[in-house]
Amino acid sequence: MSKIEQTLSIIKPDAVERNLQDQIKQEFTNKGFEIIKEKKIHISKEEAERFYKVHETKPFYNDLCSYLSSGPIIVMTLQRENAVVENRKLMGATNPVDAEEGTLRKKYGISIDKNSVHGSDSPENAKIELDFFFNH
Ligand code: UDP
Ligand code: MG
Repeated sequence: MSKIEQTLSIIKPDAVERNLQDQIKQEFTNKGFEIIKEKKIHISKEEAERFYKVHETKPFYNDLCSYLSSGPIIVMTLQRENAVVENRKLMGATNPVDAEEGTLRKKYGISIDKNSVHGSDSPENAKIELDFFFNH
């Protein structure tokens, strides 16, 4: 059964800074994702804190929020069959050192914090995250 889905993808500051956005967007379209919406934004630390609220008790929360708000990012609505899972596969493990060959984090990630891309981890969170960036 085909299940057309949408997920949120973010090209993080480290990748935008290195001007990798066109290359990374091409990686998504090569894998059958359609980029339905897209915008380049520079969020505040407070917005990053709201976006990553799920991680507020983690030791890396403050650095993570400073980092996501440190420069421009590209936020996108990606669409395809099983978009959430397929995007997570394409992204690879959180730490680029652990990411499989060919994944975005393996190819472009610099470190666990500067890992180039974000992707929603469930259909429920995809809805919440898409709303956060595109319906406010
Ligand atoms: N992160 C970090 N240190 C850690 C774990 C995570 O800096 O020890 C950052 C990393 O950039 C990651 C983000 O926090 O992408 C969110 O963490 P999560 O566990 O949700 O990983 P993801 O879903 O992005 O793979
Ligand atoms: Mg996550």
